[in-house]
Amino acid sequence: MADRLGELARRFTGLLGSDSVITDPVRLRTYECDGLTVHRTTPGLVVLPTTAEQIAAVVTECVRTRTPYVARGSGTGLSGGALPRGDGVLIVTTRMRRVLEIDVVGRRAVVEPGVTNLAITQAALPHGYYYAPDPSSQQVCSIGGNLAENSGGAHCLKYGFTVNHVLAAEIVTPDGEIVTLDALDPGYDLLGAFVGSEGTLGIATKTTVRLTRLPEKVKTLLAAFESTEAGGRAVSAVIGAGIVPAAIEMMDALAIEAAEASVRCEYPPGAGAVLIVELDGPEEEVAAEYAQVVDLCSEAFEIRIAADDVERAAIWKGRKSAFAAVGRISPAYIVQDGVVPRTALPEVLARIDALSAEYGCRVANVFHAGDGNLHPLVLFDDADPRAGARAEELSGAILDLCVRHGGSITGEHGVGVDKSRYMPRMFSEDDLDAMHRLRCAFDPWNLCNPGKIFPTPRLCGEVPGVRRGVHPLVASGEAELW
Ligand SMILES: Cc1cc2nc3c(=O)[nH]c(=O)nc-3n(C[C@H](O)[C@H](O)[C@H](O)COP(=O)(O)OP(=O)(O)OC[C@H]3O[C@@H](n4cnc5c(N)ncnc54)[C@H](O)[C@@H]3O)c2cc1C
Repeated sequence: MADRLGELARRFTGLLGSDSVITDPVRLRTYECDGLTVHRTTPGLVVLPTTAEQIAAVVTECVRTRTPYVARGSGTGLSGGALPRGDGVLIVTTRMRRVLEIDVVGRRAVVEPGVTNLAITQAALPHGYYYAPDPSSQQVCSIGGNLAENSGGAHCLKYGFTVNHVLAAEIVTPDGEIVTLDALDPGYDLLGAFVGSEGTLGIATKTTVRLTRLPEKVKTLLAAFESTEAGGRAVSAVIGAGIVPAAIEMMDALAIEAAEASVRCEYPPGAGAVLIVELDGPEEEVAAEYAQVVDLCSEAFEIRIAADDVERAAIWKGRKSAFAAVGRISPAYIVQDGVVPRTALPEVLARIDALSAEYGCRVANVFHAGDGNLHPLVLFDDADPRAGARAEELSGAILDLCVRHGGSITGEHGVGVDKSRYMPRMFSEDDLDAMHRLRCAFDPWNLCNPGKIFPTPRLCGEVPGVRRGVHPLVASGEAELW
């Protein structure tokens, strides 16, 4: 293996230049994990390409030598999707950070894969537009990672997830070809299949995204409730009344405590839960909906309205810092991500409380309440060797709860390596085979981000009805068959 990686390092140095290839073990360790630090592997080799052609050349070499490879953007993923392979190549897109075009008339932007989510909005703002999907990590996460994870954010309730905003993607396919997938292509929706494929169907090298017009009016309010159940009832009432807020986010008492300790957000004291509701659109519509929302939050003991952008930012500060803030109240924690039907929120939150008591682990809840996307933060003390395992078990029990209520084991963080073992809780073997067939159609050699999504590693020849493909390089005798 060392020989193969050594040979590849020499080849890549010739193709990309020596400053774009990392072989030094200390520097390689920088890339050993993503935002989910429990899974770590030092990559065999790291390359930092600057063009799609370089990525295609790297992938072609990987196929020729049967070397697995993994794409990485900013490494903020929370499911171990960008976890590298010790016997493989990590292809990092951080040097591909150009916004290539802002097309105001066409309401679209064309960007390289390493461009951060927020950089697209910053480039579009002077023209009165922005990029709507807004993961809390938007200052650092890359659009390539967003595509791979079909990322969401607080404002995706009204505006939709990444998949609703991607118009086209140039990708390097798992056999090293550069092709463009366009939403307007006739036939199968291959762009739709690519978005959310967690880096297993190829590497995005250029993306065209939709730009959204800035709303005429934005109104943000914070409502404080005695309990999450009361907050959950308000969420159902607002959506049930036909109102689709731009965002409707909930934090429970423990999440509020963490945020207070970290950023002093000064939410109403004594709240068992707070809801942040943001309405946007034409001024008159926002005014009418705002009055309705205040009525529907009748169980709230305090409602605050942001008078200007400064107050709006103050309301959002606690929510946006919540994940990191939990570090203030616990030495370690697991960020979980599951979905339940919105109407089940009060019951599910009460059950999470009961599970938390049963397992002896505190759980802070901060989540996209409007679309039932929970982010329970399971707190534990990593100095206690048994505490991590207990927290892990509790996390699994919460996911079971989501599935039992007709929900999902992930809303936006993806399956990656972390949740692959939970896939059989949602899908039958036949379902998994069907998904694997799609993967094999793109990557019959199982080299593109292998070991992710699927619980049991299998080769394409092992999926009923799927034959392992013969790569053109194999057919021409340039590479061996395996
Ligand atoms: C504090 C914090 C808050 C977060 N909040 C949110 C949130 O609100 N909503 C949300 O959805 N997520 C959130 N996340 C998760 C994460 O930021 C997103 O999943 C993000 O899209 C990952 O982007 P990245 O560039 O960091 O990707 P990486 O972590 O580098 O990679 C993620 C996956 O994408 C693949 N990939 C990367 N680049 C490409 C490419 N060019 N082509 C093909 N595949 C590629 C990788 O192989 C991997 O499977 C949060 C994370 C953190 C740490």
